[in-house]
Amino acid sequence: MGAAVAVKELIVSGKLKGTIRFYGTPAEEAVGGKIYMAREGLFNDLDVCLDWHPDTKNEAGTQSSQAMVDFIVEFKGKSAHAAADPWNGRSAVDGLEAFTHGVNLLREHVLPSVRMHYAIKAGGDVPNVVPEYAKVWMWVRDSKRSVVDQVFARVKDIASGAALIAGVEAKVTVQTGDYEMLVNRTGAAALQKNLETLGPIVYTADEIAFAKKIQEVQGGEQTGLDGAIHPMKETQEHPEGGSTDVGDISWNVPEITLLTTTAPKNTAWHGWSVVACSGMSIGHKGLVFSSKALAMTMVDLFENEQLRKDIREEFEKRKGAQVYKAYIPEGPAPIPTN
Ligand SMILES: [Zn+2]
Repeated sequence: MGAAVAVKELIVSGKLKGTIRFYGTPAEEAVGGKIYMAREGLFNDLDVCLDWHPDTKNEAGTQSSQAMVDFIVEFKGKSAHAAADPWNGRSAVDGLEAFTHGVNLLREHVLPSVRMHYAIKAGGDVPNVVPEYAKVWMWVRDSKRSVVDQVFARVKDIASGAALIAGVEAKVTVQTGDYEMLVNRTGAAALQKNLETLGPIVYTADEIAFAKKIQEVQGGEQTGLDGAIHPMKETQEHPEGGSTDVGDISWNVPEITLLTTTAPKNTAWHGWSVVACSGMSIGHKGLVFSSKALAMTMVDLFENEQLRKDIREEFEKRKGAQVYKAYIPEGPAPIPTN
């Protein structure tokens, strides 16, 4: 928002020509608000989209992310007394157990880049009643959406097979899914130049002490804060574990990602220690730094038509013939109940 306001001021004062648009994108870590917005084409008229994510280092985004599909498998059987007439019952938990066993057999026969994880959300209530309902929540991930599609098809077969084994019904419901990030190195290089112009984030002794204390409590090495500007990395074929709904935007328009230090290394991400650092000057410095870096890069994009063309060319080349199709079901975003 800081970057958008700065650029807007330049446009209003006549120093830049063009349009800037600021997107609020909710539920990044839940259903993925950006996927719904991408599906509706809300990013399609942009030349370039820029995004920012908090991190433990300052870096222009050069790595992809994992594509994934997030789905629920439910089993419906028939209740009966577990001792008096179990032969009249059909156990939904039997279906669930056959399913998870099948998934775990599948693990050996997928690419090493595939990740499958699940949590059992419902598995019967009491032992002396044949359970009529069971529910498992599962994710399948890989470096490529195409591989996720293949594995997901097999997982759906396993759900059907498990239902046959247990004599119950299985229902698979997709909740959401991300594309892998389509990296744009031309855009990242434009950002990198500005990161280097700005130079490292400098921290006070108090801030470093605070960060070390956080690391101490978390049981990690007490390295303090990393304010350095990291050089651009080679783009790995297989990214580190993790997915983002920015991936879906990146298949619709060229995307430039900035990562900025707002917490020290060795802190549990998505946890209280990151929140603690974000809510004080360590986080604030990261925000101001990010605003400057993004605003400077936007000015370059507004002023340099060739840069926009080069970024678009790389985008088209990496995208190839693949047609974007969001994983999410029809209709509006659900309100998560999990
Ligand atoms: Zn996040």
